[in-house]
This record gives sequence, C-alpha cells and structure tokens, in this order.
Amino acid sequence: MRALVIDDSRAVRSVICRTLAELGFAECVQAGNGQEGLAALAERGPFQLAMVDWNMPVMNGYDFVVAARTRISSEQMKIVMCTTETEAEQISKALAAGADEYVMKPFTKEAIQSKLEMLGLIGG
Ligand SMILES: [Mg+2]
Repeated sequence: MRALVIDDSRAVRSVICRTLAELGFAECVQAGNGQEGLAALAERGPFQLAMVDWNMPVMNGYDFVVAARTRISSEQMKIVMCTTETEAEQISKALAAGADEYVMKPFTKEAIQSKLEMLGLIGG
C-alpha cells in the first residue's frame, strides 16, 4: 500500500510516515500543503490512504478533501484528517466533505492503527 501524507510540519510528516511504515505501508509520499497534495495525487498516485492536516498555508486540509473527492472516491483512497480542532462541527464538516476518519493531534501509533483497522486498510 502507498500513502500520501500532507502536513506543513516536516517533523509531523516524518512521524506519520514512520508509523505507517511500521504498519506495513510500502511507500509514503509527503506534501507540505493541500495544493502540493493535489499535485502528488495527479503525478504520483494511486494512493490507498491520505493523512491530511487541517491547518496549512496555501491550501488547507478541508479544501484538499473537497478537491480530491471530485476525482477520487472513498473506495479508491481513504482520507484521514489529522487535526487539533476539537470542535465537533469542524470534524463533521470534514466528514461531510468526504473524509473517512480523523485522528486528534498529538496522536499515538495505536490511535492511527485503530483508525486504519476500522477503515479496513490493515488487519485488526
Ligand atoms: Mg499544520
């Protein structure tokens, strides 16, 4: 499986990619904002999973989800939002736009693992 990790923090991207490698992902492509993420989708896909930060410069995670879902279905690629936003309203907005799941920062390997199991990407 291949993953796309979109976050404006290089450190966060590294942690997520390391975690995904431990969970069996063969490749992890990184992007620094939603616009770079869309370019990666077009040029380096397919990806079975996108892990997407909410707050980023240029294009935020919400706008990425809206744009990505016009061309890639949930069956083709799961989207997990990584967010510090705790308001239920923000999460439901992302889910309504086509995100499949979310994890709250700071997250643990176990938190990511359980979400990916729920999505059927890895064995439970
Ligand atoms: Mg951010």
